[in-house]
Amino acid sequence: MTTPMKVKMAGSIVLLMALFIVAGCGSKGDVAPTSSPSASPSSVATATVSPSPSGGSPTPVTTPSAGSTQKPTASPTVSPVTSSAPPKSGEVQVVAKPESVTVLVNKQNSLPSSYEPADLVYPNIPFTFAEKIEKRKMRQVAATAIEKLFAGAEKDGIHLAGVSAYRSYATQKSVFQSYVKKDGEEKAKTYSAVPGTSEHETGLAIDVTGSNGKCAAEDCFGGTKEAVWLEKHAADYGFIIRYPQGKAAITGYQYEPWHIRYVGTDVSKEIQAKSLTMEEFYHTVPVSK
Ligand SMILES: [Zn+2]
Repeated sequence: MTTPMKVKMAGSIVLLMALFIVAGCGSKGDVAPTSSPSASPSSVATATVSPSPSGGSPTPVTTPSAGSTQKPTASPTVSPVTSSAPPKSGEVQVVAKPESVTVLVNKQNSLPSSYEPADLVYPNIPFTFAEKIEKRKMRQVAATAIEKLFAGAEKDGIHLAGVSAYRSYATQKSVFQSYVKKDGEEKAKTYSAVPGTSEHETGLAIDVTGSNGKCAAEDCFGGTKEAVWLEKHAADYGFIIRYPQGKAAITGYQYEPWHIRYVGTDVSKEIQAKSLTMEEFYHTVPVSK
């Protein structure tokens, strides 16, 4: 039997966990990737005990075995990962808030396959192609920001062009599957994102290049005056260089000076000032290659 004291303590633990989770999400912009379909604090709490809404019933049960499967001590402080144990390398979790502008998407944190941003628009910037097609789209907030970034670059004599922005889950799936057919799944995974794990699916990322279109999404873009300008100024407009040089072991990607991701200026400026990656910013485990 559970003593009233134990019940009270269990209640306190639930409350504490809830507070931790809310603080973690609130301070770092609602990223809470998780493998479970729901990541609300209550669902996490119920994994350990079942708090009664009335509070009067002694139904909560906290057995040692329940605690060992889902330790309350693993509850996050600022980590986007929920109270479950950190994912082992290779495991993919589905993010809880795909619509958050600070959502962490990488090889371990996937968007739901059903996710499609609700506010995709065509930003008014030049692209390296003329067609009004999917890869020209961005979410409204990122579109507004990229327009400002391009205008700011123009003022400095830097002429940029978009190469590729939004990519739907379906598009990423067909791209990935074509590579799998060609090279097999293991090899394809080394150079192409598994559907759901490409940042382009957020509608918040865009590959950019110089307006001459040379070196579009290629290594030779690195070191160009456009790349140097981006490195220095992207954060002023809420963007980060998502895959910085020398951080492949953390991000899972080689240096991509052309791939910028909108996160909002609060986060972008902190990440730039501290030379962080998004993974480091959220204190997640390194992404294995
Ligand atoms: Zn990209």
